[in-house]
Amino acid sequence: MYKIMAVNAGSSSLKFQLLEMPEEEVIVEGLIEMIGLANPVINVKYQGEKESKPCQAKDHAEAVQLLLNVLIEKKILKDLNEISGVGHRILHCGEKFTDSVVMDDYAIDVVDSVSDLGPLHNPANLTGIRAFKKVLPNTVQVGVFDTSFHLTMPDESYMYAVPYEWYEKHGVRKYGFHGTSHKFVSQEAAKFLGKPLEELKLVTAHIGNGASLAAIKYGKVVDTTMGLTPLDGLPMGTRSGTIDPAIIDFICRKENLTVQEVNNILNKKSGYIGFYPESSDARALRAAQAAGDAKADLILRMQSKKIVDYVGSFYAYMGGMDALVFTAGIGEKSPQTRADVCARLKEAFGVEIDLEKNEIKGELMEISTPNSKVKVLVVPTNEELMIARDTMRLGNIK
Ligand code: ADP
Repeated sequence: MYKIMAVNAGSSSLKFQLLEMPEEEVIVEGLIEMIGLANPVINVKYQGEKESKPCQAKDHAEAVQLLLNVLIEKKILKDLNEISGVGHRILHCGEKFTDSVVMDDYAIDVVDSVSDLGPLHNPANLTGIRAFKKVLPNTVQVGVFDTSFHLTMPDESYMYAVPYEWYEKHGVRKYGFHGTSHKFVSQEAAKFLGKPLEELKLVTAHIGNGASLAAIKYGKVVDTTMGLTPLDGLPMGTRSGTIDPAIIDFICRKENLTVQEVNNILNKKSGYIGFYPESSDARALRAAQAAGDAKADLILRMQSKKIVDYVGSFYAYMGGMDALVFTAGIGEKSPQTRADVCARLKEAFGVEIDLEKNEIKGELMEISTPNSKVKVLVVPTNEELMIARDTMRLGNIK
């Protein structure tokens, strides 16, 4: 039995989950918010009880120390050395790591060197790693990257048809995101289907606030919908997804805005919220759609259409598809989105789902009918567990 800490450090937050491995059970989880700001708060969920209280955390190192003190106080740990490894969610590794890695000085330098590609996340992720290294200097720290799983894409999928030197000088290419989730659900889907991943053609659909699809052929990503940044691909809660890039210059001139301002609108005020200003939450949009709101209905249809556009293209590119896997908030819990997408895939691809089974929310389940030419699965994602598994593997903990 080993205790592994899975960490997601943001600029002012630290999300954590302590897992018992290899049993894969969550011991305690929580979030420290407002780190370095006026009123930091620690939220802890332990043995079914949630507790939230103000705390001292002027920086991430203090937050980590506080978290570890709480684990001792609550007698979850007797000694900090009981933590066998710490796994960190890191946004970007550029083209450097096709797998998770032990965060030695070289790996830290790499993450630092590609901060331009993830300016909001990489520096914050590094702050978390440095803080844990300071407090637990002898414990292995593993980095699990959002982009690594997609690095198997062939050049014809990841390159943009722009001047080649943009790639050489600035790393302009498709990276893709949600890699930890796509990897986790593809592995779970293979287990469920009782076949090695190396024999399967899968499309994984991570549809949450952020949304992306991945085409995974024989265990390797061959295409994905997000690009240089998470803005690309599907319409999402607040992001536009793919648009004609000439819209940016056009709207800058029409609305007298800067490129940065338009970029911000495309990231934060588009997608669901661009059509339904009251909310970017899928449940609110479904309620508005049911009440007859035409624009909520339209953006939801646009999102389904776009999902189907990509599934069709991935199907052709992989030369078939054994299973379509839905995951993340909407993918796991919205029967309407799944039903709409699958209905649109019926005629061309013979996808057929059982509408009763499709009512499932947040559970692993096959929702296709026995006649369906493609299996359709709902697989709850679990990025923390993927991080803990990789920490065990890379940290050689056994
Ligand atoms: P994030 O990208 O922030 O991790 P999540 O994967 O948690 O997002 O997904 C959040 C989305 O899932 C929200 O749009 C939310 O409305 C949607 N969602 C959660 N529960 C349901 C539900 N029961 N029915 C439909 N949508 C849901």
